[in-house]
Amino acid sequence: MYAQTNHAKLQEAEHQKPLGKDEQIVTAVRHWTDNLFSFRVTRPQSLRFRSGEFVMIGLEGENGKPLLRAYSIASPSWDEELEFFSIKVPDGPLTSRLQKIQVGDRILLKTKPTGTLVLDALIPGKRLFMFSTGTGIAPFASLIRDPEVYEKFETVVLTHTCRQVAELEYGRTLVENLENDPLIGESISGKLLYYPTITQEEFQTQGRITDLLSSGKLFEDLDLPPLNSATDRGMICGSMGLNNDLKAILEAQGLVEGSNNRPAEYVLEKAFVG
Ligand SMILES: Cc1cc2nc3c(=O)[nH]c(=O)nc-3n(C[C@H](O)[C@H](O)[C@H](O)COP(=O)(O)OP(=O)(O)OC[C@H]3O[C@@H](n4cnc5c(N)ncnc54)[C@H](O)[C@@H]3O)c2cc1C
Repeated sequence: MYAQTNHAKLQEAEHQKPLGKDEQIVTAVRHWTDNLFSFRVTRPQSLRFRSGEFVMIGLEGENGKPLLRAYSIASPSWDEELEFFSIKVPDGPLTSRLQKIQVGDRILLKTKPTGTLVLDALIPGKRLFMFSTGTGIAPFASLIRDPEVYEKFETVVLTHTCRQVAELEYGRTLVENLENDPLIGESISGKLLYYPTITQEEFQTQGRITDLLSSGKLFEDLDLPPLNSATDRGMICGSMGLNNDLKAILEAQGLVEGSNNRPAEYVLEKAFVG
């Protein structure tokens, strides 16, 4: 996924100045498109999180105050580093600067994970559907690498909808690497079904996931029986509009929204505000 880490450069960065309380060091960066990049940072020893949760990360602002934004942790809870998958908003206060980070740079990270896209917020089931658009794939990039997901569910369907084919590349590479992973590859084989869809270019599966779900094409393409609230669980992470549309579809099928305190059949989280 990433160019080999230059450990000498990392050590040099750590030795330059001791890490501040909320500081972590960038260990890898990869740009996927003009609008998307992913990066890895050192993991604070005190940080415990559940796969699917988000934290606040950022940079020191020009006024010396921290400039922080919510970010889903894209790496699984067992990983010794943390990974993030980010948009580049050209005039975005944070990402106009964050997109320039390089190995050895420091970012700010608050160690208070939270979120509803966690296994604990779902009641047991047989199939888990993860619906994402754009950077909304980040929490699922964490969950699909967590063995607990495959212990709890017989089938895991990850849908990822983007405008352009190039925007799928982070998720596609991740799934491909996972299938060939010597540790987890065997346990996910046949269980993880990846369903990418594209809305603005030609592609094998075209269209909004809401349409593909409502028309039944998703199930036809994957050779799966239709939604069944007795056995199916859902997780949604996209824009506000997509989340609302998917919520209506799942609820019409009898799935009830869950939370950490009240686990149920599906959960959702906004991929961004705006
Ligand atoms: C719970 C939660 C988790 C999040 N996780 C991630 C994540 O894993 N990766 C990530 O890139 N962002 C994520 N975000 C969005 C993130 O917090 C910032 O909004 C984003 O980094 C842009 O910051 P900014 O300061 O550059 O621009 P902002 O001022 O924050 O945003 C400017 C505008 O850009 C658009 N925008 C912002 N973020 C996105 C996005 N991710 N996709 C499409 N359009 C966007 C919106 O229209 C927004 O109004 C998450 C947000 C929430 C609430």
